Amino acid sequence: MQKFDVIIIGAGASGVWAAARAVAAKKSVCVIDMGARPLRKVAVSGGGKCNFTNVRANHGHYFGKNPEFTRGPLARFSGHDMLDWAQSHNVKFYEKTPERYFAESARAVVDALLHDARGANFVLNTRVLGVHKNSDDFVIATNGGDFIGEKLVVATGGMSYANLGVDDIGYKIAKQFGHKIIPPRPGLCAMRTNVFGAGFSGVSLNVEIKIGHEIILDEMLFTHFGIGGPAIYRASVRDISHGFVMNLLPGRDAFDWLKQQKKLQPKKQVKNILSDALPERVAEFFADGDTRNIADFRDNELRDLSEKMTNIKFSPADFNLQKFDAAEITCGGVDTREISSKTMESKLCPGLYFIGEVLDIAGDLGGFNLQWAWSSANALEI
Ligand SMILES: Cc1cc2nc3c(=O)[nH]c(=O)nc-3n(C[C@H](O)[C@H](O)[C@H](O)COP(=O)(O)OP(=O)(O)OC[C@H]3O[C@@H](n4cnc5c(N)ncnc54)[C@H](O)[C@@H]3O)c2cc1C
Repeated sequence: MQKFDVIIIGAGASGVWAAARAVAAKKSVCVIDMGARPLRKVAVSGGGKCNFTNVRANHGHYFGKNPEFTRGPLARFSGHDMLDWAQSHNVKFYEKTPERYFAESARAVVDALLHDARGANFVLNTRVLGVHKNSDDFVIATNGGDFIGEKLVVATGGMSYANLGVDDIGYKIAKQFGHKIIPPRPGLCAMRTNVFGAGFSGVSLNVEIKIGHEIILDEMLFTHFGIGGPAIYRASVRDISHGFVMNLLPGRDAFDWLKQQKKLQPKKQVKNILSDALPERVAEFFADGDTRNIADFRDNELRDLSEKMTNIKFSPADFNLQKFDAAEITCGGVDTREISSKTMESKLCPGLYFIGEVLDIAGDLGGFNLQWAWSSANALEI
């Protein structure tokens, strides 16, 4: 049985970054992954363009029981540091929307990461089945035999996109050593809902979503099963356990606007007035078959109509998140309150570390999750 200074479970974004760090620190490193290739999620991320960072990454863009946990790791390795890394590795990139950076090819990011991790032993097609600790070392049991490591880094990611390799072993190891797990759930995903009925599939519009005091302004896309698009993805990583409120006419006072239209275009059917501000099919839905001209609407009817479009209350019973297989990330995971944000070491078991998505840290849409993988792995002190 070969012994290593550091064993890393998971050759994903955080695991490979951690391997590079450990190699640079002159440690003997073994990275075990059940997949045939390392960095499979990175390779498909951003639709093959890998949205590898967001220079706005700070704790305000992360969710979980304790987003403050991200402060230190993100301060020590920021989105700007990641851009410097890309530049120094000749990874060509571009800014797609403000502060959101994509690589011209995800492959280039994969190659650069593997270049940094040269010297680590990659043991692929090998599934970790369990771990136990001797007096000094960790013994990692796999379907390819046992491995021994002085230090153990758990970088097993979340439960999303099973076809790219997922397993709950990271949570099991955490529990075994006394850690609390915040129940995992899908994040960055669409929602099933019947609130709008069917028939809008493919229609998109800008919406405002209010969750507590927070407001999301972004595009929403109707799908054949419900609602998706950036606004819904962003809502899905926040705490929506008490529901949320949607406004389909952001940036205008809908009641004032309708009263104004009543004066300006009294002979126009309300359906046609609404389609000046909403996609036609959505306008028809809210006109609800009423063929009257807007002049025939009393003000209180216009008020009701504006409320229907701008104050759409989604209670928790009104929507279901898509399943893990269709969610980009996993919210929940290993409770960060029992991990040191300085070293990523467990406060309960010396020599055991957790990084990346296995932790209860979920980033917003826009490169924040990969930045968390880099920053948390970079914070390792092993
Ligand atoms: C389709 C898709 C697109 C995405 N695009 C972006 C994007 O553009 N920008 C962004 O910021 N984020 C994106 N994400 C999210 C991002 O990829 C993840 O947050 C990130 O990869 C998490 O890194 P990680 O190292 O924690 O886990 P992962 O990259 O998921 O790696 C975990 C590794 O652990 C291995 N593993 C698990 N259990 C075991 C076991 N028992 N034995 C052996 N190996 C095991 C897995 O095989 C896997 O290789 C995307 C996600 C998906 C699914």
